[in-house]
Amino acid sequence: MTPQLLFALIVAFLIINFILETGLDYLNQKSGRNIKNTEKTDEFYDHDKKTKALAYSEAKFKSGLINSTFSFIIVLVALFAGLFAVLDNYVRGLVTNEILVSLIFFALLGLILTVLELPFSIYEIFVVEEKFGFNKTTKLTFITDTLKSLVISAIFAGIILTSILFIYKNLQEWFWLLAWILIAAFSLFMFMFGTSLIIPIFNKLTPVEDQELKEQVSAYCESQGFSLKRLFVMDGSKRSTKANAFFSGLGKSKTIVLFDTLIEKLETKEIVAVLAHEIGHYKKKHTLAMFALSNVQTFIFLFVLGWLLSYPQLSQALDVVEPSFHISLLAFVLLFSPISLLTGIINNAISRRNEFEADTFAKDTNDATALKSGLVKITTDSLSNLNPHPWYVKVHHTHPPLKARIKNLQKQ
Ligand SMILES: [Zn+2]
Repeated sequence: MTPQLLFALIVAFLIINFILETGLDYLNQKSGRNIKNTEKTDEFYDHDKKTKALAYSEAKFKSGLINSTFSFIIVLVALFAGLFAVLDNYVRGLVTNEILVSLIFFALLGLILTVLELPFSIYEIFVVEEKFGFNKTTKLTFITDTLKSLVISAIFAGIILTSILFIYKNLQEWFWLLAWILIAAFSLFMFMFGTSLIIPIFNKLTPVEDQELKEQVSAYCESQGFSLKRLFVMDGSKRSTKANAFFSGLGKSKTIVLFDTLIEKLETKEIVAVLAHEIGHYKKKHTLAMFALSNVQTFIFLFVLGWLLSYPQLSQALDVVEPSFHISLLAFVLLFSPISLLTGIINNAISRRNEFEADTFAKDTNDATALKSGLVKITTDSLSNLNPHPWYVKVHHTHPPLKARIKNLQKQ
């Protein structure tokens, strides 16, 4: 395949992806406004709240559209003006070591992307979320969050990339397999200890204090033969009023984190029902299965990458004459985008099925009514679109829409 053809493919995928995503966003927004649809959800939203929820989804649609259009244009300009080659040349003027060239290239690219994205995050948080009363993030928190994320990604990406580049330099043929083992080991480590390592950098985790909640949680866990030593409250209210809860880890490291906003908004029995749902994910081995699946996908990605890296056309497609690891990887990621879209759809379908299973688990072992009222509170409090378009759900939703979850809970 010629570099020209690869370039044309990359551009075609970008355009198709942009049209597809924009079309889906539009359909989803339209579906949310549809009178017939909204009548079906009148039991969840009163008139005022419905108007507010529609205004919120419209504001998010508009800011999302401006953001995605801008990103789309930037990538196209970078491709047609050969800006990746310009950056590559610039870095080669600074250092000669091939590993350092790749590292500095990715560092600068990451920094440029972060800076370009910054105005959009600022608008999203301080204008859109603020207007609808969700935002709690102060300017100081925003600045420290951005800096912390940059430092953490630099450290982790730096360590992993350096190791991968070193492996690639020394054994080109089997590099992909070793790189996979390395990434799998790292993700296992993060899967087990990520919550205890990363979250405290951004948030405060404290053990649950509420005596009544503690007692009910232990009673439920005992009834399920589930030992939960790590039940934390996280100060989610530091950034947003939106409520959430999640499960992480395995074995002794298994942890459930409840946002303080969840504890504030839900009654004790509703919180226990949400916790039962989270434990359902563990009992049904969802967390482990998703971890295994992501490793299989990385394996496929690296296998194809390892095979294609030997072709200089990949780098040449981005106007770079001398083939290099970083330019080839970049071209490959762009070329891989239709497959990434497809794996995203598959992952989301599995995730939505898991959500139904965890709901059913909570229904069977705890209280379906409490879970239902808890879910309604969480969803309507965050002014969610209660009538998402089915195609949008397929591509983007990790969780089924509220109505579908309630229907599943009411099933005999
Ligand atoms: Zn869940």
